[in-house]
Amino acid sequence: MQVRVRFAPSPTGPLHIGGLRTALYNFLFARKHKGTFILRIEDTDQTRFVPGAEEYIIESLKWCGLYYDEGPGVGGPYAPYRQSERKNIYREYADKLVTSGNAYLAFDTPEEIESLRKTAEADGRVFQYDYSVRINLKNSLTLSETETKRLIEKGTPYVIRFKIPENKTIEANDLIRGSVSFPSSILDDKVLFKADGLPTYHLANVVDDYLMKITHVIRGEEWLPSLPLHILLYKAFGWEESMPQFAHLPLILKPGGQGKLSKRDGDKSGFPVFPLQWKDPFNEEISAGYRETGYLPAAVVNILALLGWNPGSEKEIFSLDELVEAFSIDRVSKSGARFDPEKARWFNQQYIKQKSDCELADLFITELTKKGIKADIDYVESVVNLIKERVILLNDLWEQSYFFFIAPEKYNAETIKKVWKTETPGLLEDIASVLENAEPFNQTVIENAIKKYAEEHQTGMGKIMNPLRLLLVGGSFGPHLTDIMALLGKEEVIKRIRYGIKAIKV
Ligand code: GLU
Repeated sequence: MQVRVRFAPSPTGPLHIGGLRTALYNFLFARKHKGTFILRIEDTDQTRFVPGAEEYIIESLKWCGLYYDEGPGVGGPYAPYRQSERKNIYREYADKLVTSGNAYLAFDTPEEIESLRKTAEADGRVFQYDYSVRINLKNSLTLSETETKRLIEKGTPYVIRFKIPENKTIEANDLIRGSVSFPSSILDDKVLFKADGLPTYHLANVVDDYLMKITHVIRGEEWLPSLPLHILLYKAFGWEESMPQFAHLPLILKPGGQGKLSKRDGDKSGFPVFPLQWKDPFNEEISAGYRETGYLPAAVVNILALLGWNPGSEKEIFSLDELVEAFSIDRVSKSGARFDPEKARWFNQQYIKQKSDCELADLFITELTKKGIKADIDYVESVVNLIKERVILLNDLWEQSYFFFIAPEKYNAETIKKVWKTETPGLLEDIASVLENAEPFNQTVIENAIKKYAEEHQTGMGKIMNPLRLLLVGGSFGPHLTDIMALLGKEEVIKRIRYGIKAIKV
């Protein structure tokens, strides 16, 4: 069997990391089985369409290296892969179900349905359009054929609903959950085709999975309640033979473990829940993205892979290729996976450590250029080498090293209080002169020169080094001071010392 799986998002906003994980598991499954990974955009609900969302989804997949074999922009034997471009396909299938008695036309207006809902609510019931109520409502099951025809000819709006069979148990096998069953009495007669001439998710999804020869449907747990309907649809169409296998993935849970991870959790605790930054086209609100926060895509992929799947070993760091090799659907857990923001940072740190100075310098130069800073690649590489150990997110590169690119103009007040004494300016003036003669200007020569001065003048090293650091970086942080000095170069060091002595007034 040729494995064919699809990721089928609806472009209703930015892709949540839970959605990205669904895409990842589909991708891994496809690659593992030498199958095909398809992207299908499910955009038949025009009321939920959000401009830019489809582009966002595609860019997110690309950023993570989850390239699809068939889909928008790539094409494929079952194109088009955007449901809005397939709209003429679905009506025929809805009609087939009406003809075979598995679906019916319902003429109830939205207002009528709303009033039924309200009445039920007032009685403490939940309204459901199902076998128990359809017999009393305005549909092709209750109206005569002539009346139905007359209404259609008059242009009365109607929807097509699926006729859920009464008193049946729908059994299914889920690759993650094992056998699951649903009594048909809990199901409502879902709308398959809307009055606006478009199919609903259920019809379009099943028809397209069938037409695109999908072998495995791997999707989020929130779609499990739709499974019995989908199975009934396959049966009603007579497609049971080619019905895909289903796998419903567990939720990604809040760090506290209770409930689905939401954007609010991320905002509250300062971690992104979206792969890329997203600007809401309606209210311009910005949501943070992993990319912009300084995560490496390989780290994000690794984090997501282990949220719900376990490799059966202690190994934690997996490249995408290693994941393809190790992945298996039966190691996906049934229960939700708790998201741990600290662990996510840890993963990123491991990936940063794995990168060579040269690779990190390349990434950093791009950031520097965005800030209008021109720097020599060898210099940036040396900077990276000094600070790499302290970097967790790519953005820390700048936080940890900006003083290598811009001289401090302001100095940390608390550090001044602690390290700036009356004798400091004179002392540093001397040090500047000592350094002028330090040749070559490397770490050892600098260190020896300062030590020699300290001994000769019976001054503690701290009295020199602490205020010196303050003038060179602006505070009491950063890597080893003589490393900083050697890298900044003699001229710059002396310039910063002389500038600082004048600038700091206590
Ligand atoms: N369009 C659905 C979604 O937005 C797809 C669900 C499925 O994969 O069947 O998640």
